[in-house]
Parts: sequence; C-alpha cells; structure tokens
Amino acid sequence: MEERTTTANRLDAATRRVEIFGDEVSSDGRVERLRTRAGFVVYRIQARVLPFLPGSIYLFADPGEPLASRPSEYWLIDAGSGSDESNADLESAFRTIREEFEPGFASEKIKRILLTHSHIDHFGGANELRRRTGAEVWTHAFESRVVSSFNEQACVSNVRSFHFLREAGVPEAEISGILDGFGFRPGRAKSTPVAKTLLGGEKFGALRTFYLPGHSPGHLAFQLDDVILTGDLLLSKTLTQIWPSRTTPRAGVWNYVRSLRALARLAERCERTLGRKLVALPGHEAPIFDVPNRVRQVVRGMERRNARLFALLEEAEEPLTTFEIARRMYWSGRPNREFFAISDVAARLEFLQQLGLISVANYDEISVAKPTFRFRNSFSDAEAAENTVEQVFGVNGADDEPDAIERDANLGGD
Ligand SMILES: [Zn+2]
Ligand SMILES: [Zn+2]
Repeated sequence: MEERTTTANRLDAATRRVEIFGDEVSSDGRVERLRTRAGFVVYRIQARVLPFLPGSIYLFADPGEPLASRPSEYWLIDAGSGSDESNADLESAFRTIREEFEPGFASEKIKRILLTHSHIDHFGGANELRRRTGAEVWTHAFESRVVSSFNEQACVSNVRSFHFLREAGVPEAEISGILDGFGFRPGRAKSTPVAKTLLGGEKFGALRTFYLPGHSPGHLAFQLDDVILTGDLLLSKTLTQIWPSRTTPRAGVWNYVRSLRALARLAERCERTLGRKLVALPGHEAPIFDVPNRVRQVVRGMERRNARLFALLEEAEEPLTTFEIARRMYWSGRPNREFFAISDVAARLEFLQQLGLISVANYDEISVAKPTFRFRNSFSDAEAAENTVEQVFGVNGADDEPDAIERDANLGGD
C-alpha cells in the first residue's frame, strides 16, 4: 500500500484524478486500472511512443462480454509506434497487468487492435503485435491505406508535401530537410493488413465507434459506457495538431472544430442520460474529466492563435508567406517541428481565406513556376475577426442547435 501511494504521488495532479474511478496504479506507475460506472475495466498503459512524446494505449476485455470474470479475449486501442522503447513498454505493461491485476490475462488473448488513426505513434506497433498475437487490426476506411501500405502513402504524401512547402514559401534547398525532420518516409513504419475497415457508427457489444475527422481523415473515437477513447482529437494540456485539407483531405479547421463540437455534445448527452460526466481518455496527456469545458478552452486557444496571425499580418510591412508566419508564430529552433508549424499555419490561413478574412496579396504574380502565396488581412475592422471560429460554429453557444451536427457525425440515436 505504501508503495502504491508513493507511486501515485509521483504522477502529476491531473493523472491522479483517475482516483475518481476508484482505480489502482501499478507499482511502476505505468499502468492504471480504471472502472467505468457500469464496472467495465479499462487499463491505461503509458508507453514512450516517440522520443519526448509519451502516449497512452488502452486495453479492455471483449466489449461483447465486458463483465466476464475471466475474459477469454481482449481488445486494444492503438498500438504505440513500434519503436524499441514503445514495444518494450507495452510488453512490460502486459506483464504488469498479469502479475498485479489480472492473472488470467495474456497478450496472446488480444484479438483486436482498433486504431484511432494512422499516425505512427498510434499504429506503428500494430504489425508486431498482430504477428505475435494473431490479433486483427481494425481502422477507419480513410486511414486503412496508410496502415496497410505505409510506403506507398509515404511516397504519395511526400510529393504532395513538396508542392505544399513550395507554395508555403519554403526555399527549395530547405524542403527535403523539413520533410526529413517530419519523418513520414518509406520504411519508417511497418505496414500491417487491415482485417476490417470501419466508418463510425458501429456497435460492438458495449463499444460504440464515432467518426470524428479533423486531426486525420478517418479519426475514430471509441465509447465504452461513461468513458471515451479519443486518440488525438482532444488533449488535456496542448492544442491538437491540425493540418490543411490542402494536404490532408477531411482535415482542416472546419472538420476539426466540427468534431470537437460533436464530442462536446456527446459528453453533454451522456451527463443528461447517465447522470455522469463522460471522461475522455486521450492518446497523450491526462484524462479529461470535463469534456465540454476543455472543448471551449481549445476553441479559445484556436481563437488566440488566429488573433496572433491577424496581428502578425497587420504588423508586417509586406504580405507574408505561410513559412514566414510559421517562423514568427512558432519558431522553436527544432527542425523536426517545422512541418508541424507550417501545417498549423496553413490550416488556419486556408480557413480564414475561405471566410474572406485573409487574401492572397500576390495572386497576379503566382504561377506553376512561382507558386508561393503571400497573405494579408482583408477585413477592415480587426476586431470583427477575433471570434471567427466561435462565430462560424457557435461553439460556446447558448444558441446551440444540437441535432444537425450530431446526426452528421453519427452521434444521433442508436
Ligand atoms: Zn495523431
Ligand atoms: Zn498522437
């Protein structure tokens, strides 16, 4: 008992709030056992999925028989990155679960690996796990090509990204360095066959799937009772990476905020019908106990970034390229972050340009040979643009019209 208390004390304050579930933490602090309101057990496994980026992988019993005293099969949500550290952490967590929590568990009993999306930190470990356990890999149809044919998609994506970075104003000599730093290159992840593609809206016993695109084209969330596994859609501390739909179809600000809004709605409905808050268990960072509030914070954070972008364009003497804005907004000095920064800015510019708040100042000079866009503000009253996302989506809204969005996002009814 002494040992457990000490371990729990080492976890950060937000993580310790999992005590709300009446759960336990393993002696090494890397596995937590959570219980949903109806008593379903979910294991939250911490793994070093990428250097500097810890991730969470979740394990639970077959949702068709979630309350069985000795479950014969288990399901996993996400698979880590497949790096040595990530695989080792997963293996040691499986041992911990057997030794400290559930003697009947064995990794060979994992029969399904469901992927929230196909970014390497979530799917890269799937092939090794499938090979070892025979588990089936399931993912959304729009993610399945990356999972089953990683090298093909990496090559396609790099050509698209090359053109995108030219358009963003990255000097040609720097493009390959930025793409290398991003690391979506052939051979980096092992492809794995996809046994079943999902679309969102499926039910597997007690588990429901939701299609919530924006961070990636086929991002899924999985709800089990009053817990929802949300991948990278919503994080407890940082703002989720966004991408322009220019490079990532069905991403972009519009889809992302729409999915956030749908998640907030689902949480509100859960609270109304179950009388208990829906807890989001994300792929990184701590569990989120007040989803609607966190969604409001994220939207405010997005507004602040938009305001910063408008201010940069306002202050600049000349119209700016995406790359110039990204450097001013986010320059970190770390080349491996540059593609993320440029993509974030491009996603915002794309959205704001579509709304008529930003324009391409040099449109009469651009051509296939000279494709770099330069942007400037195109509204007269800067204040009018400050609440753009909020105005478009009514996210904070007392004036919410719940039904339309819920139906579209497969959140309506059973
Ligand atoms: Zn991701
Ligand atoms: Zn991630």
